[in-house]
Amino acid sequence: MNKKILAAFLCVCMVVVTGSFPVSAAKTKKTYKIAIDAGHQGKGNSKTEPIGPGAKMRKPKVAYGTQGVKTKVPESKLTLQIALKLEKELKKRGYDVYMIRRKQNVNISNKQRAIRANKSGADICIRLHADAASANVRGVSVLYPSQQNPYVAKLSKKSKKLSKNILDSYCKSTKFKKRGLSKRDDLTGTNWSKIPVALIEMGFMTNKTEDKQMQKKQTQKKMVDGIANGIDQYFK
Ligand SMILES: [Zn+2]
Repeated sequence: MNKKILAAFLCVCMVVVTGSFPVSAAKTKKTYKIAIDAGHQGKGNSKTEPIGPGAKMRKPKVAYGTQGVKTKVPESKLTLQIALKLEKELKKRGYDVYMIRRKQNVNISNKQRAIRANKSGADICIRLHADAASANVRGVSVLYPSQQNPYVAKLSKKSKKLSKNILDSYCKSTKFKKRGLSKRDDLTGTNWSKIPVALIEMGFMTNKTEDKQMQKKQTQKKMVDGIANGIDQYFK
């Protein structure tokens, strides 16, 4: 049987079995699209760009990011590992996914990342990062724009809800310490967004324990499940 005949045959079977064309089922539930931005890239880019539409203040296009104090893994590699696993998990749960990058060797500024996410038709954008501080600091923060943000104030409420959903479910899944939500209005990749956006600092790479943990396969699964559960919660 060739493919066309097979497709027609299956369609007829669906009509017989369900009493309707198979397309009707898909129409009842919207498929949400998630943009995933794996923070940083193989090499930073110190050229600058405005931190928001019309902004005088400028910041580097892509910062280098931090590095595992124990594992020596760069932040850009950790965020990519999690992004690729999150993509798989979200697709499994029925979401469409738009990946801003899927390799290290790219040069995409934070402004460009936001614009690409906007244009992709995604409903929300998840920005993946890891934190850095002195050795004993650990835990998880999620960053969102405040209601006073000069560029994206109207995204604040939804971004906060998304951020809270992700923070709660991520910490529940990983058992990492919850540091909390943080209002940030100086983030280029957030300020150019046109869709609700959450930036998760997944843990501290400057903390030996969290650095090692975040490279474990089991922990990465919990990290990914936690973020995906938060997204489920947001759309509920
Ligand atoms: Zn970062």
